[in-house]
Amino acid sequence: MNSWDTIISGAGIIGVSLALELRNRGQQVLVLDRGEPGREASSAAAGMLAAADPETPPALRPMAIASAEMFPQYVQNLESAAQMQVDFRRLGTIALLEEAAASREYKRLSANDLQLLEPALRVQGLTAFFVEEDSVDPLLLMQAALAAARNLGIEIRGHAAVKDIRARGGNLEVLSEAGQFTARSVVNCQGAWSGAPVRPRKGQMFYVQPQTGLLQHVLRTPDIYIVPRSTGKILIGATVEDVGFDKSVDTSTIQYLHKAAATYLPELATAAHTQSWAGLRPGTPDDLPIIGPTETHGVFIASGHFRNGILLAPITAQIVADLLEDRRSQLNISAFSPARFSPRTA
Ligand SMILES: Cc1cc2nc3c(=O)[nH]c(=O)nc-3n(C[C@H](O)[C@H](O)[C@H](O)COP(=O)(O)OP(=O)(O)OC[C@H]3O[C@@H](n4cnc5c(N)ncnc54)[C@H](O)[C@@H]3O)c2cc1C
Repeated sequence: MNSWDTIISGAGIIGVSLALELRNRGQQVLVLDRGEPGREASSAAAGMLAAADPETPPALRPMAIASAEMFPQYVQNLESAAQMQVDFRRLGTIALLEEAAASREYKRLSANDLQLLEPALRVQGLTAFFVEEDSVDPLLLMQAALAAARNLGIEIRGHAAVKDIRARGGNLEVLSEAGQFTARSVVNCQGAWSGAPVRPRKGQMFYVQPQTGLLQHVLRTPDIYIVPRSTGKILIGATVEDVGFDKSVDTSTIQYLHKAAATYLPELATAAHTQSWAGLRPGTPDDLPIIGPTETHGVFIASGHFRNGILLAPITAQIVADLLEDRRSQLNISAFSPARFSPRTA
């Protein structure tokens, strides 16, 4: 078959979550990816679902909170369609902050409370807050999304970079490395490769495997974050670097992050690295996503999710599916309009 309701360019968590939502609404969907599906930012993330992080831009808050609320059902749907678990953890986050930097949703912890929650933690003169927030293993989440999509009849093709999209006879022709396809709608979900003004923002991080169950909660500090998995592995991250499409890992940067983590959890100092990597977040000039129609009729974009693409995947899928069906979104999405970057608007 060469004709589809919707073609999605990019098989990251944004593209595949959208494909699942559209399939659920009865559409025939094709997802094309430049490389191996799911192998870019979405598998490189930490997996914090940090809706109330004070660093989240205010305009993104309602969308972030709505998506965090959707997450338990989203995970349940993926796990059941894919027949696998994604290590969705609901224990909460401990944020170490200068007191004034805390968000309204943060609950201050006494020294006793903290001792009970995380006995190994050293606060380094900062104030500890509890945040009701979940986490997920993004690598497993991405694998589950791909498996769920395939099980539900969505076609996903790797090594099929989209080269061009042309309007023809009321439809769209998509020219890709794997051939030519036709669709009513096309959605650019190409992450850091979506084109200007989206740009790559590199993050390096790594896993350690400590001897003991050292940490139960996600830990966020002013300089690093630490995310435990149920297997006992602990993730330490991350840098935010503007170095183009470079995904190399720098040993001295990893050592710096490791040393910083050990100031909060001294036992981490001797924990062995098991894996390190870098991923490219899709950044935008105002740190807000770009979601909506482009100047070509029928072509949409859902990109620029920067540090929150895992968190924002379920709500983005719903918003874009509504737009494709010409339905108004329940959220005000005007701040994310692609038109804000068009030369005419400027
Ligand atoms: C170090 C790090 C830590 C992070 N931590 C978190 C976190 O804790 N919580 C959170 O919510 N988010 C986090 N993120 C952000 C999150 O990973 C991203 O926002 C999200 O993965 C973006 O998803 P995506 O599908 O848009 O992009 P991607 O996963 O990068 O997918 C885009 C896909 O498009 C494909 N593509 C590119 N060009 C083409 C083309 N021409 N044709 C076809 N396909 C193409 C690519 O091959 C790729 O597979 C983190 C990111 C990094 C790097």
